[in-house]
Amino acid sequence: MKSQDPKLILEISDLHASVDDQPILQGVNLKIYAGEIHAIMGRNGSGKSTLSKVIAGHPAYTVNSGSIQFEGQDLLALEAEERARLGVFLGFQYPIEIPGVSNLEFLRVATNTRRKKCGTEELDTFEFEDFVKERLKIVQMDPAFLERSVNEGFSGGEKKRNEILQMALLEPTIAILDETDSGLDIDALRIVASGVSQLTKPNTATLLITHYQRLLNEITPDFVHVMAAGKIKRSGGKELAIELEQSGYDWLDNDEVNLGEGN
Ligand code: ADP
Ligand code: MG
Repeated sequence: MKSQDPKLILEISDLHASVDDQPILQGVNLKIYAGEIHAIMGRNGSGKSTLSKVIAGHPAYTVNSGSIQFEGQDLLALEAEERARLGVFLGFQYPIEIPGVSNLEFLRVATNTRRKKCGTEELDTFEFEDFVKERLKIVQMDPAFLERSVNEGFSGGEKKRNEILQMALLEPTIAILDETDSGLDIDALRIVASGVSQLTKPNTATLLITHYQRLLNEITPDFVHVMAAGKIKRSGGKELAIELEQSGYDWLDNDEVNLGEGN
């Protein structure tokens, strides 16, 4: 418990979810307060991306029981678009390409939709160009990427930077970044990490989903959770990530004890 009593942003309670009638999430508990950076680690197939998509409201996933509260509201009652407008941002593990849709226009519409919800002034084409150019610096991205179709022909690293650019423009309350580090070389990783660090504010939170310790060398999480078989099996501080780097995930096979849930 923290002394200054920060705002609870996300509270996931005993969440069970399935896809195509196959249960994936089997009782996830997690609490994220304002100002915190959490990391979820775990093997491939443990349910990390499923959790992120369920939070974002991806229609392919069915929630069977449990709840997700976002700033005190029932997130599961809302459509994905409404969740995004309210400030839930998901940076995808595999960002999609949208041929024929200008990246600049896409970003402007998304930004204005969010700003409208927040009661901030919407930006016209010229104002948005200034805004986006300033935010491009955070991800050190070439303005030429704005003129192209969304993610079309972008390299893996360029797509991930474009995701962080979206985050920089939308100013989400919670940013969930799913494997943003995968496919990045060390320079791109540092840029993304520094972007994320600059964008995490005292009134916002970040949930980093990562397979590797690499990203966590660049961004120090406040809490690290290990997911296995659709549950958070263990939670700890940043030292847990370092421990995992050394011990790997093999202990999960002979350790069915749940050593702490959420935080
Ligand atoms: P992680 O991100 O930890 O690698 P995922 O959440 O992607 O794990 O996957 C968890 C499990 O759910 C895997 O066994 C995966 O095959 C299954 N799964 C996820 N999405 C789907 C889907 N759309 N259809 C069928 N199975 C899925
Ligand atoms: Mg995944």
